[in-house]
Amino acid sequence: MSHEAKPIENEHFRDTISTIDDKSGDRAWVYAKKPNGKIHNIRSIFSIGLMALMFSGPFIKLNGHQMLLLNILDRKFIILGIPFWPQDLPLFALLMITFVVFIIVFTVLFGRMWCGWACPQTVFMEMLFRKIEYLIEGDYRQQMKLDESPISAEKIFKKSIKHIVFFLLSVFIANIFLAYLIGSDEVLKLVTDGPKDHMGQFISLVIFSTVFYAVFSKFREIVCIVICPYGRLQGLMLDKNSIVVAYDYIRGEPRGHIRKNTDQNHLGDCIDCKRCVHVCPTGIDIRNGTQLECVNCTACIDECDDVMKKIDKPTGLVRYASQDEIVNKLKRRVTVRSAAYVVILCLLVTALSYFLITRKDVDATVLRTPGMLFQNQNEGRISNMYNYEVVNKTFTTQKIMVKVVQPEKAELKMVDRELNGMNLNEDALVKGSFFIILPEGEIKSNNTEVTIQILSNGKLMEEIRTNFVGPVFKK
Ligand code: SF4
Ligand code: SF4
Repeated sequence: MSHEAKPIENEHFRDTISTIDDKSGDRAWVYAKKPNGKIHNIRSIFSIGLMALMFSGPFIKLNGHQMLLLNILDRKFIILGIPFWPQDLPLFALLMITFVVFIIVFTVLFGRMWCGWACPQTVFMEMLFRKIEYLIEGDYRQQMKLDESPISAEKIFKKSIKHIVFFLLSVFIANIFLAYLIGSDEVLKLVTDGPKDHMGQFISLVIFSTVFYAVFSKFREIVCIVICPYGRLQGLMLDKNSIVVAYDYIRGEPRGHIRKNTDQNHLGDCIDCKRCVHVCPTGIDIRNGTQLECVNCTACIDECDDVMKKIDKPTGLVRYASQDEIVNKLKRRVTVRSAAYVVILCLLVTALSYFLITRKDVDATVLRTPGMLFQNQNEGRISNMYNYEVVNKTFTTQKIMVKVVQPEKAELKMVDRELNGMNLNEDALVKGSFFIILPEGEIKSNNTEVTIQILSNGKLMEEIRTNFVGPVFKK
């Protein structure tokens, strides 16, 4: 049955937030009905896989090193086994930009699929904490009843059990989170040695555990609606062609309850049972259109499909669809905007791949020592002092060599330690100074260009051109 789009009569939802009681201004607690259905089952299996990956992530090692480490304090990052140093900041920034653009492209094309399927907040909340809550307190009506009931032994028991389990799980997640930040070996030391020798890490663990416990037991959907910047950017990214969880209002409206012995031919397919509203973990009514609060969890799709089957109507009144598909029956098409995003993403991925492939094992900087001009050495020779910094960006020992290739008669003299032939350990950084000494005859101007080569394991890593300052000698 096809119907013209009709304006929705009650537009009160435009002035209210589902999680705030518009009379008292207090938080309106969302009691979400236990979700069920085909998509929910697929999501559950997918979430189990994701959680297994998240929990085992810090313990998966490549060549003896954690596969993913984001140690912000020590500025040490390992992504898929590739170490990144502070010197790799431009590359790391490019990686982050590429990731953000990927999320934008994905959102433009497929809406908030990330939120519903892969975001750790949704995965933990809906697939772990909420399921435990259903197990202990029952479905949403029983939860409501329990909260409204006076204090009793049963209430104290259920609430205590729930919060103890929530807190223990939060501590466990905090340990995993910390392992991504400081490394799983450090966290294991904290667990085996106790907090006395690792007070800083223990305090971090307490803070993370408390935050996770507060998020999953109290804040819940507030994190998605108010705190998460990605959620708030939806309005900018979505367009009429984006696939989102949507209510087919052309087919569904005007809505109306089923009444026996009444002519209901003027009505759409929505029987206004509100099951899609009761199941929503963010408390919204998907029939009001695409909303910032919708995390695309698909619970309303399953719920409505079940209703449609029961009343013998086709499923898909609520489904993954674009606005264009619902209103104009248009198949998915490539818009200029989505094409432009994809082109930008391809360019970024190409640039990132190029920089990653050509990334050197050893990074070196050589700069003339600030505040120093030149020194007169014996036998008509002039020297300049330089500061160097060499960092081994690999997990293997690198043998370092340094030489001046231009001018040919230049000499190199180390100040503190011998850099030539030095075995630089994995992850190590060495700093120091050396002199470049030139015979007066080689100095043609007061700014002579010198070329320094840094080699690692016999392979040229850097060719650095710098200046040599000296007096000009007239012949
Ligand atoms: S579950 Fe389906 S039929 Fe029931 S109110 Fe929601 S959209 Fe309408
Ligand atoms: S509207 Fe549907 S998809 Fe969106 S959050 Fe609610 S239940 Fe999930």
